[in-house]
Amino acid sequence: MSFAFTARLPLSRHEVDRDHIRRASDTLFETLRTDAAARVLPLWRGKALVAVASAAERETGRAHLELVRPGLVPDSLLTLYLGLSLATDLEEPAGTPLLATVLSDEAAADLEPDEGRWIGLRQLATVLPDRDTGAFAEALALANWHASHGHCPRCGAETTVEDGGWTRRCPVDGSQVFPRTDPAVIVLITDDADRILLGSNAMWEQNRYSLLAGFVEPGESLESAVLREMHEESGLRVTDAEYLGSQPWPFPASIMCGFTARLADDQQPQDLLPDGEEILDLRWFTRDEVRAEAGRVILPGAASIARALLEHWLGEPLPAGADGVRA
Ligand SMILES: [Zn+2]
Repeated sequence: MSFAFTARLPLSRHEVDRDHIRRASDTLFETLRTDAAARVLPLWRGKALVAVASAAERETGRAHLELVRPGLVPDSLLTLYLGLSLATDLEEPAGTPLLATVLSDEAAADLEPDEGRWIGLRQLATVLPDRDTGAFAEALALANWHASHGHCPRCGAETTVEDGGWTRRCPVDGSQVFPRTDPAVIVLITDDADRILLGSNAMWEQNRYSLLAGFVEPGESLESAVLREMHEESGLRVTDAEYLGSQPWPFPASIMCGFTARLADDQQPQDLLPDGEEILDLRWFTRDEVRAEAGRVILPGAASIARALLEHWLGEPLPAGADGVRA
């Protein structure tokens, strides 16, 4: 069940064999830089380079990433090994080694001066092929980790990159640090009348509603985080937390773990108590209310797991424009 749900999530789509064995090779980058079959995914300020659209793409609104031959990439700040492409329906054959490279402003402008062709993952999540979405999510998550983990947590020395970008090592004490990701739970809460609970976050524009979510704390299970976070944000206790699927959310470093839960038997739906800091408003919605109010209230964007959970409960896609984005 959860595998099928996860497979439909835009950023969980992947067609890359991460090929962890090859990461350890000392000559990996040296070899790949001269490998005419290898391709590089350039990253600039968290954005990737989108290829000029084909006629078919212009018609369907689809897009694909521009991958560059290693010899054509300007000097980069950081190079990462993503693995081997598994796609059989793209220009590059299955087995193509994929690298990512983080470019400075100057290098990015050298490669492609038109800033309109550099686009972020959120905007591209639903229009790229599986391979490109997975490679972009992998590259962005890993690059974000490097950007904030340049020093040894033990002694503060500057660390160096190893294992194709999958490790950093301290030259002073030899300790290694590994890329990390921060789990968060996001929960579709239903009551006895099969309504769902949506909240409006203080950080969002007014009138945007989504599922409640929060970070898992150290020493806590995902299931316990569901119960704690939902109580903190709504004042209500939930029960029967069930895992449905997950999606990476590298903005900058999360993985969203989607759950369903129901209001505990001794709780009253009307006793909602938004925390007033993170959550400003809470509302229960029937399916008819979601359909009727989509557009008047702004609902989760197409790239999000919140959207997928909502549609899973609704039993149908949200109407176009429900996320405030004009179709
Ligand atoms: Zn150290």
